[in-house]
Amino acid sequence: MQKREVLLEVKNLKKYFPVKNFFGRKVGDLKAVDDVSFVIYKGETFGLVGESGCGKSTLGRTILQMLKPDAGQVIYHGKDIANLPKSQWKDLREKLQIIFQDPYSALNPNWTVRELISEPLKNAGLSREQCDTRVRELLKLVNMNEDDMEKFSYEFSGGQRQRIGIARAVASYPEFIFCDEPISALDVSVQAQVVNMLKDLQQELGLTYLFTAHDLSMVHHISDRIGVMYLGSMVELGKSEDVFRDPLHPYTRALISAIPVADPKLGRESSRIPIEGELPSPMNAPRGCRFCTRCPHATERCREERPELREVADERWAACHLL
Ligand code: SF4
Repeated sequence: MQKREVLLEVKNLKKYFPVKNFFGRKVGDLKAVDDVSFVIYKGETFGLVGESGCGKSTLGRTILQMLKPDAGQVIYHGKDIANLPKSQWKDLREKLQIIFQDPYSALNPNWTVRELISEPLKNAGLSREQCDTRVRELLKLVNMNEDDMEKFSYEFSGGQRQRIGIARAVASYPEFIFCDEPISALDVSVQAQVVNMLKDLQQELGLTYLFTAHDLSMVHHISDRIGVMYLGSMVELGKSEDVFRDPLHPYTRALISAIPVADPKLGRESSRIPIEGELPSPMNAPRGCRFCTRCPHATERCREERPELREVADERWAACHLL
């Protein structure tokens, strides 16, 4: 098998948000990302799935240093970028980019498309002519028209705005893009177009993605490997095909069984496994296995001892005492 190059290594990353009472006194921590470790290989799409509030977006933003981690490392080209001073972030900012969920609020409505896309280029020191040339190239790349340069973002549909967001994200020749639910705010009819465009750009520009979406079928479609998050922890990780065909962790099994239409590629019928109970607050996560309050297989050990994410089969990782 061809050896894959690791682009990013996330080690024991933690991001906690302090919770204060009415008097401003700290009463606890909301553990949004709690000791997460995994690698992302160069050129792949790593999909992150899990219920709303499980920490997917916080994890991506902490990797990009939009949020300061409380502990852990993010190794990129041999350097721990989680602990770099802000002054050394300029070049990294160009290489590590984000596509936001909501193209309606992510783009300044007072700026033209030219201004929106050329902002990161100006910051990189390009002249006005160089910026204009690059903006034309980028518009072509995302199937938009040169004439669109002088228009404002509010003149476009949601799908077109997301294309402007994509053009802006790839403007400075990045290596890695965190696609933070890039299709969730779009009409179903344009979601597949945007996902296919992201796949084409990945091939053409050699990009690596961390991708999240509510639509699990879409994550399955675009991802090479998948990580499943529950209450700030990674509970399963593996090749996309393997995880969707044969989920190992009880939470993953329930999550995938909830995909509404049976996917013939998964080789299974849709037989839903309900997840009982409410998602516990990340402030009061269960002591042992995070999933023990909702897992039909929970034992005393599960309530006492937190299972580690370990390799249970070739390239299959899961955090469950039963495996
Ligand atoms: Fe369920 Fe126990 Fe496995 Fe957690 S460790 S998923 S509670 S069986």
